[in-house]
Amino acid sequence: MSVNQIVLTADRPTGHLHLGHYIGSLKSRVELQEHYKCFVMIADIQALSDNFDNPEKVRINVAEVCKDYISVGIDPEKSTLFIQSLIPELTELTIYYLNLISVTRLERNPTVKAELQQKSFHDSIPAGFLAYPVSQAADITAFKATLIPVGEDQLPLIEIANEIVRRFNRIYNSKVLIESKPILGKVQRLVGIDGKAKASKSLGNAIFMSDTPEILKQKIYNMYTDPNHIKISDPGKVEGNVVFSYLDAFFEDKEELKSLKKRYQKGGLGDSVLKGILNDTLQNILAPIREKRASVSNENVMEILISGSQKAREIAKNTLAEVKEAIGLLYK
Ligand code: ATP
Ligand code: MG
Repeated sequence: MSVNQIVLTADRPTGHLHLGHYIGSLKSRVELQEHYKCFVMIADIQALSDNFDNPEKVRINVAEVCKDYISVGIDPEKSTLFIQSLIPELTELTIYYLNLISVTRLERNPTVKAELQQKSFHDSIPAGFLAYPVSQAADITAFKATLIPVGEDQLPLIEIANEIVRRFNRIYNSKVLIESKPILGKVQRLVGIDGKAKASKSLGNAIFMSDTPEILKQKIYNMYTDPNHIKISDPGKVEGNVVFSYLDAFFEDKEELKSLKKRYQKGGLGDSVLKGILNDTLQNILAPIREKRASVSNENVMEILISGSQKAREIAKNTLAEVKEAIGLLYK
């Protein structure tokens, strides 16, 4: 990879971050910040698109998400951490890009389609929600980002952003906007503890990095395994077994994991032993993260975010000026 890459990632401040974020994107951000210019955005405007009637939830979680960042090792000295709504240029770019994509294309987006199924908009889908991929295109292009670490659920959104980039550059005969590529995490879609959907803040089926040791243990002991594995001696199923999905993602000793799977399939390995192994694994990973989280205050994180936003805004201003020039909106 060339050294000139620019990385942009974001999270919606709709709740604390969970293990899906950790394995799907946070871990790779911590590595990427050692090599590239990294922008990490808290997407409060996007979070409002399906929480417009609950702005307090979004506001409170801005600081919580930033604490999660710091706790896993995202370093404000290396990455620029900022808040979306503090960069009005992003919204202005969104308006220009909205003309470059059709409503049908936005409705066909598999990510938005899946999200619509989970939400209860019925027949009144907010236009802002349908259009949030356009605002993501603005976020990506404002910083001329080339690499986007994401979970699998976000791939169609990067495609839309690149379509907008190509269309813009073609129509306005410009080279201002740059296409980006996704980087997928080690686990592209961590399943929720209910085993039904991907782990998600909004679905309440996730293990949060800030969960206490007791809650973590309780969530693990309530995990879905194999309903037919009743007696310890019964053969058990590994596929679709949430405990194994989490061990696959977090248990380092792969040989040992292979042998655990064999024993479980054969019969003779109880769910409680298996859950105990997962509990030890996750408690070990989360203990230092929890400790670091407790050491940062709301004041600390707001200072970091305000100063990061000032830096980010300067860059977005430049891109917006170039975009307006390419369109020909120059009034002197
Ligand atoms: P919400 O329910 O509010 O949409 P979320 O849990 O889906 O929240 P986002 O803030 O939408 O989290 O996603 C931030 C990033 O984390 C995205 O890149 C997304 O792909 C990744 N991500 C989210 N959930 C998972 C998961 N379960 N496994 C892997 N990556 C994930
Ligand atoms: Mg999401």
